[in-house]
Amino acid sequence: MIAPRNTLVWLAGALMAALLAGLALVAHQQALATAFQQLRDRGQNTLNLAESTLRGQLARFEHLPELLADQRVIRSLLLAPRDPDLVMAANTYLRDAAELLGASDVYVMYRDGETLAASNFDQPHSFVGGNFAFRPYFFDAIDHGAGRFYALGTTSNKRGYYFGAPIDVAGQRLGVMVIKIDVDELEQAWASDELRIIVTDPEDIVFLSNRPDWLFRAFGALTPDRLARTQATRRYASAELGEIDFQSRLDRRGFRLLSGHGEDAVAGEYLVVKSEMPQAGWTVQILLPTRAARVQAAASVVIGLLGLGLLGLLVTIVWLRRRQLAQRLEMEQAAKDDLERRVIERTGQLRDANAALREEIAERGAAEHQLRKTQSELVQAGKLAALGQMSAALSHEFNQPLGAARNYAENAQVLLAQDRHAEAQGNIERILGMIDRMTRISRHLRNFARKPNQKLRHVTLSDPVTEAQELLGWRLRKSGVTLSVDLGRAPLQVVAGPVRLQQVLVNLISNAIDAVEGGQNKTLDLSARREGASVSLVLRDHGPGVPDGIQDRIFDPFFSTKDVGKGLGLGLSISYNIMRDFGGSLSMRNHPEGGAEFVLILQAAPDAALEAAE
Ligand code: ADP
Repeated sequence: MIAPRNTLVWLAGALMAALLAGLALVAHQQALATAFQQLRDRGQNTLNLAESTLRGQLARFEHLPELLADQRVIRSLLLAPRDPDLVMAANTYLRDAAELLGASDVYVMYRDGETLAASNFDQPHSFVGGNFAFRPYFFDAIDHGAGRFYALGTTSNKRGYYFGAPIDVAGQRLGVMVIKIDVDELEQAWASDELRIIVTDPEDIVFLSNRPDWLFRAFGALTPDRLARTQATRRYASAELGEIDFQSRLDRRGFRLLSGHGEDAVAGEYLVVKSEMPQAGWTVQILLPTRAARVQAAASVVIGLLGLGLLGLLVTIVWLRRRQLAQRLEMEQAAKDDLERRVIERTGQLRDANAALREEIAERGAAEHQLRKTQSELVQAGKLAALGQMSAALSHEFNQPLGAARNYAENAQVLLAQDRHAEAQGNIERILGMIDRMTRISRHLRNFARKPNQKLRHVTLSDPVTEAQELLGWRLRKSGVTLSVDLGRAPLQVVAGPVRLQQVLVNLISNAIDAVEGGQNKTLDLSARREGASVSLVLRDHGPGVPDGIQDRIFDPFFSTKDVGKGLGLGLSISYNIMRDFGGSLSMRNHPEGGAEFVLILQAAPDAALEAAE
């Protein structure tokens, strides 16, 4: 799977590279053409300038030989060529004329080619006496009425341009008037390091150049016939001719290019602009080095490529950034979706958990309800158990006053029969007292056995205490136990259910009687104190106390250390829960001096409201 993908990437890369290379090539060609065009335009301007300067310079002298030929001093000389005076006169005239005209040399040739007089007659290389019949300016003037030529002077060894005009005297062509101008001056105007301005002859030999290194050198090989033609006119006199090793070609866009291979200044490539000057018989050429143009073209391509690369980079960066952004957004979206999904999931879980919790609460509510029901049933059972325990003693409690009442009643019958009314009255009162006591006990028993009203009230603490004392009076008396009560001076008001509080007290006092029954000290102390918003009730006995190991368990239901039939193990558990229902508490501690101490904490009722017992 990986290999084909790699190949594809490589192929795409190669294609891209080829495309770029092609693009670069085309761009380079275009840039080169533009640069060459600019170069050619510049060359053309220079060429025009050089050509017109040359034309102007030559035009200045063009008709002067004719003018001079017409002078009397010249014509006279030709009629008497050997007359020294006339020669001298002509020499002087020609010297003055040359100076005046700014010509290099001015001279007169006889029809056989011999120079009769010259402006340089008094110079070391004087032309006088020289025969230049081989020069075209001479024979063209004789044959065609005008002659022009440029050449290296055979005598002066200086390059010059020659204008020749025939001297006709009395209808006879007796000689030729010649003006030679210095071409060095022409070259001086062309000074340039950059380009080459050259003038070549019909044989392609450089005659004028703004740089001397190419002078008298021919483009291409100097073949024998080329040499022979040059020799005939002795254009270059005795100067040594050379060759310029070059290749000329016309490129596709029509630029003429010339590349020189020599090791000297010929080396390099040139763009050629040329113009023929048929009148002068020469060709003016401007050779412009192409190096700068090529560098410029290459540079513009490189710059273009760099620009393209930069653009590509920019596009890539923008694309990458956009992709990054898109990826980030995608990731964020994914994270958001994930979060949403988790929130939905979590919400669902929470809903389920809530439902489960509600169910649990409902179950707990039901369980608590069940518990309370069971508890109240247990309370009832506990009470019935206590009643069962008490019934034997109670029958004694009732039988005794009943027996006594019967005795008192029989006694009263006897006393009434004897009319001892006052004593009978005393007996009846005793009987009534006994009935009252029994009534009270039976009422308490009824209350004890009945299911209590669940409502809490303000209860005067002494009431349930007194009732509990009365309920347990027979047990206390039977077992010889003393219960000393100290509830303080002011009546204490607590928040409780009076019957249930009485039941708690009965439980605790019963346990305490159990604890001290067989012991030495058979006293119980019940005391109560107001402590801020609470009332604390402490029952202390002098029994054995509760062993450390079971202190935590005595409030558990059905925990009992007593013999079967004697204890159910419910008393403390029920009492504990009742106290909690009152908003209070029940706790136990062993007294440091022996015996157990049960502490009841109850909420104190606001002092004002005193409410009746149930
Ligand atoms: P029961 O009296 O039927 O055994 P309770 O719940 O009333 O049930 O008491 C549990 C246990 O706590 C008793 O069996 C006894 O061991 C212990 N106990 C309660 N009161 C005292 C006390 N005043 N002194 C010593 N032990 C006590």
